[in-house]
Amino acid sequence: MSSVQHTIRRPVRAVGIGLHSGEKVALTIKPAPEDTGIVFVRTDIDPSTSIPARPDFVVDTRFATTIGSGKVTISTIEHLMAAFSGAGVDNVMVEIDGPEVPVMDGSAGPFMSLIREAGLKSQKRHRTFMEVLERVSVSNHGSTLSIEPSSHFSIDFEIDFDHPVISRQFFSQKVTPRTFSKRIAKARTFGFLREIELMRKNGLARGGSLKNAVVIGETSVLNAEGLRFSDEFVRHKVLDLIGDIYLLGRPVRGRLNAYKSGHGLHHLLVQELLKRRYAWRLVEDRDDKWRVPSWGTLTEKDMATAVNLS
Ligand SMILES: [Zn+2]
Repeated sequence: MSSVQHTIRRPVRAVGIGLHSGEKVALTIKPAPEDTGIVFVRTDIDPSTSIPARPDFVVDTRFATTIGSGKVTISTIEHLMAAFSGAGVDNVMVEIDGPEVPVMDGSAGPFMSLIREAGLKSQKRHRTFMEVLERVSVSNHGSTLSIEPSSHFSIDFEIDFDHPVISRQFFSQKVTPRTFSKRIAKARTFGFLREIELMRKNGLARGGSLKNAVVIGETSVLNAEGLRFSDEFVRHKVLDLIGDIYLLGRPVRGRLNAYKSGHGLHHLLVQELLKRRYAWRLVEDRDDKWRVPSWGTLTEKDMATAVNLS
């Protein structure tokens, strides 16, 4: 793929339930012109309300990333955003007839299938990359997240849970459409059984089940099918980070280093980065120096690993 912008060829639709709301929602992804970015639209509201997936529209980062405009919000956008980032989709309209993106199976795999079904369409204008020039870091209650200059987009992520099923996991990956679809997209969201009841009392995780999340008991994973990767938990955290960072509205050239980070800290880094104008510059990759193997060059076998969710 040269580094021109991409949208999708044709509209695609999926129906599912919201992880936190438990409500049934329909999602339609439609092609959009160059320089549109990713724009969400609540179609169940009259008049329908557009909410761009941009940092200044983020209104809540507890449990999931929520964007809003006025009183209208759309939550849990991060897995779909990760799929757009991973597949190299720059411009689309995302219509949703409810307050939350459907959780599907808890990963970005089904969204990757949808994007594949829609097909990618090259546009004329070049992508603008955000090239990181100086290290920026944020921290909060023992969690840290930083970004530093690098010739490509890569992530180091470490989690450390005081729980025997997860404990310490580390994952390091240069993120390209290929590595995203093969190693990250399928990793599911997860939750602890002991916390789910409490979350439900607070109106969260109402749609959560063994069909769309890895549920962790006292000593084991409760899902009969087990894990998709032995380190699925940290891979899912990487997926979340990719989705949240894509709120910058463009691909990033930089190396992220995360320790026990989550949506709140991801958003804080995005804000700090935008504030520190000296720490980055926008560049068009006209000579394709940063060309990455495109979605289109993935083999059927690669795709099968990404989208065939057992
Ligand atoms: Zn997630």
